[in-house]
Amino acid sequence: MLHNFGSINLDHVYRVPHLVRPGETLASHDYRVGLGGKGANQSLAMAKAGGHVCHWGRLGRQDAWARDILSRAGVDVSHVALVDAPSGHAIIQVDDRAENAIILFPGANHGFRRADLNELVAATQPGDWLLTQNECLGLDKLFPLAGDHGLKIAFNPAPMTEDVLKLPLTRCQLVFVNRTEAAGITGLTPDAGGEALLDALVTRLPATEVVLTLGGEGAWYQQGNRRLHQPALSVKAVDTTGAGDTFIGYYMAALQAQLPIDACLKRASIAAALAVQRPGAAESIPNCDEVERAIK
Ligand code: ADP
Repeated sequence: MLHNFGSINLDHVYRVPHLVRPGETLASHDYRVGLGGKGANQSLAMAKAGGHVCHWGRLGRQDAWARDILSRAGVDVSHVALVDAPSGHAIIQVDDRAENAIILFPGANHGFRRADLNELVAATQPGDWLLTQNECLGLDKLFPLAGDHGLKIAFNPAPMTEDVLKLPLTRCQLVFVNRTEAAGITGLTPDAGGEALLDALVTRLPATEVVLTLGGEGAWYQQGNRRLHQPALSVKAVDTTGAGDTFIGYYMAALQAQLPIDACLKRASIAAALAVQRPGAAESIPNCDEVERAIK
């Protein structure tokens, strides 16, 4: 079983003629609410890929429907707590030119206490994978606790913040980074070449497996001296939101199924290429059958 300590957000998306101006009251002509948050997206992708994942998260009591979406997809939600706090949520305006503006409120995602981290670690077996992102608090405490318990930590430092640089990253077995996160960790600029970013990451984290995703330029993997490149599929991208989450969920499910690394990279990149051809984040994650068909 993989344990994902991760955010769950509700994405409220309003279509508007233009982004709201200071002092303005603006009518929206379309509204949707959906499941989001990097943690939830990655659990969903992993379950859709056929993986076994237990999500550790928190939602406001009134939002059990979001937990039900995860559960119906096959995620073990027995550790998604319903609490007396607002759920993490994003208020997203999208205008007619597809520009957006987002207010993000972390809400219940920031309510984890030390006791919750202890409970998580106590529920795991040494050798289990722990996956996490940078949308919940407490990682500075969780990494040493999990590492000392013998968990293998897979970390996606998204969204990249200064706090990531203070984390004991060398305790991670595996890190997934995109261009922005790689630049943030290494101090290089995001437009440094892929291999330059990878070199700098490996120098910073010599004992860690590194997966560097570069959008339409594909992905790199390195552990020690072993370096692999997985080209991206050539597709017409309509919305790349959630590409990284789909990639990570499919990669971890393939790893859990004990596929070799090159096969994990291939499945993840096919799944992500399917996702970018559809609008949305969680709703764009393909299911396993679609990925199987695309592999053949
Ligand atoms: P993030 O969503 O975290 O920014 P990336 O943009 O690096 O992550 O994308 C993750 C993976 O999704 C890439 O390595 C690639 O496999 C796939 N992907 C992203 N954008 C495209 C694209 N335009 N065409 C094909 N595949 C893509």
